[in-house]
Amino acid sequence: MSAFIIDTPPVVALPVEGSDAKFPVRRVYCIGRNYAAHAVEMGHDPDREPPFFFQKNPDNLDNSGEFPYPPQSSDVHHEIEMAVMLKSGGDNISIEKALEHVYGYALSLDMTRRDLQGEQKKMGRPWEIGKAFERSAPVGVIHPVDAVGHLEEGRVELKVNGETRQEGDLNQMIWKVPEMISYLSDYFTLAAGDVILSGTPAGVGPVNKGDVMEVSIAGLGSMIIPVT
Ligand code: MN
Repeated sequence: MSAFIIDTPPVVALPVEGSDAKFPVRRVYCIGRNYAAHAVEMGHDPDREPPFFFQKNPDNLDNSGEFPYPPQSSDVHHEIEMAVMLKSGGDNISIEKALEHVYGYALSLDMTRRDLQGEQKKMGRPWEIGKAFERSAPVGVIHPVDAVGHLEEGRVELKVNGETRQEGDLNQMIWKVPEMISYLSDYFTLAAGDVILSGTPAGVGPVNKGDVMEVSIAGLGSMIIPVT
């Protein structure tokens, strides 16, 4: 007999390149406006203001290889991002020690119901309805640091139906991965299983059912995500 009064929810677990074992997800932090050109396209100053974060739910991460168009929106945008997976954590982590906590990296998408997010922004309300919906973060296989090292530069590209929509370079991040980890750890206790989506370059835009997204980051390969 179970010690729980209902069935325990499944652990969200992501595949790891070269391993049968999976990476269990604890929390998902996402940084906003982390590439200057994207900040400008969203109507903001590209100067380095303090970073800000929002969260998605662990079970929004989805390795199924497709993106079902979500309800209640007619303006769903793609945002290609590099995901950072932590193997350990703590409080008040220094920038110098931050990368010691990284297990690996993966391709990911911060899919966004932009119309709903826009309404929330206007009213000064939280973003969950625009950002943290079901299967809103397609994610690829995790590449361990042991295999690929730490990714500080490399081309980032998203195509829709073969046409390039977003492009940039990891070296254009306003807040680098160690800085994000350090900053977050001043406000939250980071831990093994935490995931950070590191922001998107310019060129975000809408997708429709039937479109095919192809995302790639140098060092992490590519993945194809049909919108269904
Ligand atoms: Mn994003």
